[in-house]
Amino acid sequence: MHKKLMIVGPTEIEDDILTLGKEPQVYMRTPEFSARLEKIFKNLQYLFQTKNPVVFYASSGTGMLDAAVNNFLSPKDEIIVINGGSFGQRWVDIASRYGIIVHEIKVDFGKSVTEQQVKEALLNYPKAKALYTTLDETSSGAKTDLKTIGSLLQDYPHILYVSDCVSALGVEPMKMDEWGLDVVISASQKALAIPPGLGFMAVSSKAVNFAQKSTLRSFYFDILEYLKDWKRNQTPFTPAVSLIFQLEKRLEKIVAEGLDNFQKRYFLLTEKVRTSIKKLGFDVLAEHPANCVTAIKTDEYDASEIVRIMSQKYNIELAPSGGALKQRLFRIGNFGNITEKDIDEMATALEKTLEELKND
Ligand code: PMP
Repeated sequence: MHKKLMIVGPTEIEDDILTLGKEPQVYMRTPEFSARLEKIFKNLQYLFQTKNPVVFYASSGTGMLDAAVNNFLSPKDEIIVINGGSFGQRWVDIASRYGIIVHEIKVDFGKSVTEQQVKEALLNYPKAKALYTTLDETSSGAKTDLKTIGSLLQDYPHILYVSDCVSALGVEPMKMDEWGLDVVISASQKALAIPPGLGFMAVSSKAVNFAQKSTLRSFYFDILEYLKDWKRNQTPFTPAVSLIFQLEKRLEKIVAEGLDNFQKRYFLLTEKVRTSIKKLGFDVLAEHPANCVTAIKTDEYDASEIVRIMSQKYNIELAPSGGALKQRLFRIGNFGNITEKDIDEMATALEKTLEELKND
């Protein structure tokens, strides 16, 4: 029995894309494959709203976070990290592992960093070489205002501006060039709605200069190698061929629909999720909520029981939370092939689940 995925990745995938996963493999070092990659690379630039190169790796999103640290920095470098949840914390953990000095801007869970907080950090940490952000903090469902941060950073041209857009790419406006971002990373299993396993990284020329000076570049993730091969529409190592077939089709669909329309469509579906849960007496945690991720806090019910019953009884997977919030927070994702009907069915099942828990 398939359980409907209303989590934050992987996602429901349409049949025409899913089926490409069983196409016969092809040899990747051929002019035919390079021609396909050329189009994919072009469409990725549209998705990232950039003229910069966008490369992909066989990796999950975390590999890209790792690569966005180890390609551009050296031990003892200082950086600023906006930390409003698990994924802000992941930047902190990765950078600390490399002996980088991390200055955190702590953001209350569910809140978004303020302009004032960023201004103060930029003044307080004059040695910072880079600023690490998360566009959508998937753990709390809060969105970060990358445009405003980008304009603040215009006065700090020596700072590398990096953003984790793993759950935000495609569904949030994100204008890499216009907003002055230097490194943008993402992954395949969220808004791109193809299986997990592809990671993406877009890099500005400033980022390339940083990479040339880094002493931490790893062998597999070395961005300079990927860029060399990008120029000839290739990849340094064996690419994830089946995922590339699926990526190719997904990008064609997004280009045909138009990025604005794609975002609007998901926004309307997300609004529907939010209206449905509000009818059941819940509130959205985030002050500035992300598109496609809705985090819901509950004191009345045990959130882990909600997630368990929804899965076991109604075959709908919602995203639980870990740690201290296990009983108090759950999340609903509407990435990928989730329709209005799916949202209605989820809301009905959620209502029944709450009745059951009330009667316990
Ligand atoms: N960053 C964000 C914002 C995410 O939402 C996720 C996945 N939930 C990751 C990083 C990590 O990605 P992965 O699980 O693919 O390593």
